[in-house]
Amino acid sequence: MYATTYHKPKTLAEAVKLYTNSDEPSYLSGGHTLIPTLKSRLAAPAHLIDVRNIPELFGIEVTADKVIIGSATKHAVVAASGEIKAAIPALSGLAGSIGDVQVRHMGTIGGSTANNDPAADYPAAVLSLDATLHTDRREIPAEDYFQGLYTTALEPGEILVRVEFKTPEIAGYAKFRNPASRYSMAASFVARHRDGHIRVAITGAGNEGVFRWTEAEELLTVNFSAEALEGLTIDPSRMMGDMHAPADYRAHLVAVMTRRAVQNLGGTHIL
Ligand SMILES: Cc1cc2nc3c(=O)[nH]c(=O)nc-3n(C[C@H](O)[C@H](O)[C@H](O)COP(=O)(O)OP(=O)(O)OC[C@H]3O[C@@H](n4cnc5c(N)ncnc54)[C@H](O)[C@@H]3O)c2cc1C
Repeated sequence: MYATTYHKPKTLAEAVKLYTNSDEPSYLSGGHTLIPTLKSRLAAPAHLIDVRNIPELFGIEVTADKVIIGSATKHAVVAASGEIKAAIPALSGLAGSIGDVQVRHMGTIGGSTANNDPAADYPAAVLSLDATLHTDRREIPAEDYFQGLYTTALEPGEILVRVEFKTPEIAGYAKFRNPASRYSMAASFVARHRDGHIRVAITGAGNEGVFRWTEAEELLTVNFSAEALEGLTIDPSRMMGDMHAPADYRAHLVAVMTRRAVQNLGGTHIL
């Protein structure tokens, strides 16, 4: 690793000021993406600004129609929350499916959502549950937030403070994991919202990262059952292809995982 200066701000304002006044800064949360990136010399920030001591970035609040999670909240804390499990069991199960025990005890929802890895789990929940991303500067609707592989609407120095999910009437998450990394090779988060609208978000498969599968949403709006999706396919040219799975296999998995998500509403189906 390169030499870097480590900072431990205690307030949001202090963190933003440090970022603004530093050359080549980077925020650090759980470090489970950033530190491997530094080790492999793909990034070399001169200043690491650790956001894990900022009280505003912590906490879970469950209201009658929302689940709000501070960005520095670890995956394990989300998975273990009885309140989240009662409100949105599919979100709780998603958090529990991330990586392994060590990853879940270090990685955070903010780091995952800021990083927007095309195989990450949270982006599917954020998009399907029509979430709002609260930063130190503004509120960003999920629809405008994800902007392609590893790209989001966050501007340089903007800190993700909390993620506010809409509690759906019901939701399900199905994920086909890469057996080595446990990242998704194709996963589908299906939600029926309280006003009746359906959202299907796919992660792990799309060549532009997380996306809404609108054709599946239209069929589920007419008939909210796995049978309604029989025969529906997705164009492999929209899929990633790599050494783990070719594009046509990912396209097949997207259809299967979406049907499984509907068959497992109120929970998760992890393969
Ligand atoms: C072996 C392994 C397996 C994994 N498996 C999975 C998996 O199955 N599913 C999955 O979804 N993920 C998986 N991950 C990734 C894991 O969830 C990471 O924790 C996550 O991608 C990044 O979160 P972090 O808190 O570690 O962020 P960091 O690595 O600290 O930061 C990541 C990026 O986000 C930025 N950032 C962090 N916090 C903020 C903030 N509050 N505001 C603005 N920018 C911020 C950082 O500057 C950096 O650019 C895996 C990781 C490993 C090492």
